[in-house]
Amino acid sequence: MPNANLMLLLAEALVYVASMIGLLHLRARLGLGVFVAALGVMHFIETYLAAVFYVQLPFGVISPGSAVFFSGKLMMILLLYVKEDAATVRQPIYGLLAGNFLTVALSLLLRRHDTVSVVAGRVADIAFIDEMGWLMVWGTTLLYFDSLIIILLYEKLGRWFRRFVTMRFLICGVIVLTFDQLGFYAALRFVNGAPWDVFWGGWMAKMLAAPFYAVAIGFYLRSSRHAFLAISERPLGDVFNDLTFRERYEDLLSRSGHDTLTGALDRGRFEREGQQMMRDAAAEGAPLSLMLIDVDRFKSVNDQFGHMEGDRVLKKLAEAVKANLQPDDRLFRYGGEEFVVLCPGLPYAGVHSRAEDIRLAVSTGVKTPNGHSVTTSIGVSSTLADGAGINELLAQADIRLYAAKNTGRNRVVGR
Ligand code: GH3
Ligand code: MG
Ligand code: MG
Repeated sequence: MPNANLMLLLAEALVYVASMIGLLHLRARLGLGVFVAALGVMHFIETYLAAVFYVQLPFGVISPGSAVFFSGKLMMILLLYVKEDAATVRQPIYGLLAGNFLTVALSLLLRRHDTVSVVAGRVADIAFIDEMGWLMVWGTTLLYFDSLIIILLYEKLGRWFRRFVTMRFLICGVIVLTFDQLGFYAALRFVNGAPWDVFWGGWMAKMLAAPFYAVAIGFYLRSSRHAFLAISERPLGDVFNDLTFRERYEDLLSRSGHDTLTGALDRGRFEREGQQMMRDAAAEGAPLSLMLIDVDRFKSVNDQFGHMEGDRVLKKLAEAVKANLQPDDRLFRYGGEEFVVLCPGLPYAGVHSRAEDIRLAVSTGVKTPNGHSVTTSIGVSSTLADGAGINELLAQADIRLYAAKNTGRNRVVGR
């Protein structure tokens, strides 16, 4: 009954994924050892099934050992990596390797025993380890490489779709399980003379397992942000929940250089990145331009409407500036109501008109509560005529900003 077999496999995968995710989720309460031990115990049945236990499905002959348990284990290892880090995920992988080698090594001693039959008619058969043992060693060695590849791949994919966890798990599963099927089938053929059907059936089953587990894990990661599932100290709605350790670190780094009010890059970033952008421009022989933007009579906004309102105006202003920037341009909050924009690749003529666009966008788009326009004065400078260092560009722009203030404000001043 191929269809009954399919339903059974589905039920097995459901039980497997729900139990393993459950144990992983409860690791803060139960300890991680519970999850890891469960993973290890299933390794034996998994290899045994993959060696001899096959069922007929509509599209071929497959084993629950590889389709359900092995595929699931690999996805669980990746999930463990996402929730913890590389140092943690190493432990079960090395543990499985060590356990398998130990099994095979001890069987060399065990087979030398003269055994006694305690149940009539049943004789101990250590020979199965000859077959199973080496298959387990081979399977775990493959698993070691599978795990390395799946983690590296997951990290790589994060560059393109960091927030699409299900998709990342799916792509990783499809690629690594295909690689694994090739490797494991080679061994099965060598040991058992397994026919080609076994390869295709197993591959097909793994290709069904990948989306199944990816969806289940994606669903888990999403729902584990909700209050009813939260058991750790992390705040609810934690955006780090489905990021890997490295991604969490990078996320923190990138946030730490941002001004929290306006979202612009902060002064520290300007000091570091300004120099670097200058060097890059020089190396490429490309121009680099700078704008220094200061809000006109900003003190009176604070005085009239309070600092909260002043803050709102700064936020709006930063949005208006950002809307007029090119992808490579960088906006820094240089001081209280002073901003610096760096435009790589833009020559002097270009920066003047881009600054003019910004000035116009702010004066038409940002208003105080009584409807008055918020205006800015902008000084611009550019390599190489105004200097070859970031400080020279800044100093020139500052002189021009003062000129703008002294000639009536709400204007752009350049050379
Ligand atoms: P000018 O046209 O000459 O630039 O006049 P101004 O009033 O803008 O003068 P100045 O640049 O000296 O004043 C800046 C004011 O900005 C002083 C300070 O109270 C205010 N300020 C600086 N940072 C913040 C901030 O984060 N929030 C708010 N609400 N006000 C700030
Ligand atoms: Mg100022
Ligand atoms: Mg000002």
